[in-house]
Amino acid sequence: MDARVEPGHGDLRLENRVPHPNDPKLRSFVEVSQNSDFPIQNLPYGVFSTPAYPALRVGVAIGDVILDLAVLENEGLIDVSPAYGVFAQGSVNAFMALGPKVWSSTRAKISELLRHDNPHLRDNKELRSRALVPMADAKLHLPIAVSGYTDFYSSREHATNVGVMFRGKDNALQPNWLYMPIGYNGRASTVVVSGTGVKRPRGQLKPPTVEVPSFAPCKRLDFELEMGVVVGQPSAMGGMLTEAQAEEMIFGFVLLNDWSARDIQQWEYVPLGPFLAKAFATSISPWVVTREALEPFRVQGPEQDPAPLAYLRQGKPNNFDLELDVALRAAGMNEPARICHTNFKYMYWSSVQQLMHHASSGCAMNVGDLLGSGTISGPEKNQRGSLLEISWNGTEPVELPGGAKRSFLEDGDSLVMRGWCQGDGYRVGFGEVEGTILPAE
Ligand code: MN
Repeated sequence: MDARVEPGHGDLRLENRVPHPNDPKLRSFVEVSQNSDFPIQNLPYGVFSTPAYPALRVGVAIGDVILDLAVLENEGLIDVSPAYGVFAQGSVNAFMALGPKVWSSTRAKISELLRHDNPHLRDNKELRSRALVPMADAKLHLPIAVSGYTDFYSSREHATNVGVMFRGKDNALQPNWLYMPIGYNGRASTVVVSGTGVKRPRGQLKPPTVEVPSFAPCKRLDFELEMGVVVGQPSAMGGMLTEAQAEEMIFGFVLLNDWSARDIQQWEYVPLGPFLAKAFATSISPWVVTREALEPFRVQGPEQDPAPLAYLRQGKPNNFDLELDVALRAAGMNEPARICHTNFKYMYWSSVQQLMHHASSGCAMNVGDLLGSGTISGPEKNQRGSLLEISWNGTEPVELPGGAKRSFLEDGDSLVMRGWCQGDGYRVGFGEVEGTILPAE
């Protein structure tokens, strides 16, 4: 151990201070490889079960194992009093409902229990065997009971690309776009966890070349690379939110794939926006990375010009330096091939602004609401977050290793999204969200 003391601070207070759970120097007695998404600085929440004990419960990912919080709560090692049985549940909603102070104190307690120099759990073999579950033995479930799902459209690059394709360069952005985070109310009923197969949707198709629509399987099936905000606190109907209030309501983030049927969308969206083209499936990653764990990666977003109206103004940087990868594996390929690498930091409207805007008319927010960021594209060509953009509406198909070409997704294609914040010697990651396309019946 380095026994140096900083000049002027060589007293007991320094030695006894409790390190913050985000401290890059923290280490766990659980082995964590350097490129693991789940070091002790992360501690994301998820819901899991095992063949030996099939009841759903809440756990935290650390390295390749899951810390069973229901066991810890039962042993009295985590006290979220006055509530009890908060972690012996099929979602994190009951825990989220306890509020940001409890989120923070619980994370600090879990961090302390997992530290390399804390013998409490480390040296208790019997307890460890019950509380630490190999991730490979566990089934991961949808982490939240989704109350409502809203999808935004907040990447300027994405909105511009789509606008150029369909309206031309001069009218790419609609006049309202720079004044508010555009969104629509989606479906909570079909939000599914990573690994769930996605059946090709059916719908009304009317390509411009035909007079009347037909009802048939979608021919232009797409993904959208997004982040999802998990809302952990409610807001009152009729109320508005300050920046600080909106931020405090955000429990954490997940990776989100907003599957999209472009041909269904093109015919149905006039004049009320997307409906069934987006409602058949939305996939999210199984681990909710807390807002607190992302704190060290906070960055300033793009300059907003014109200045947002007063109710949408933000005083602090609310974007995150979060790298994102999309890979596609067509049938016959052994490995998924990367087709997009971008960053969450490019988003024009921040999650905090989306939440402020969402509540601004008087719309109540609920514990378990999920807000999709909107497709995340960046300024470069390899940073496009949907096949619509990557293949430029089918005119430039992407070529995959092995020779397969894709303008849109085909049956059997598997799509994998990953995301992580790179720290110094560690990364705070999200794992992955995967979905494979199943044929329409
Ligand atoms: Mn979307």
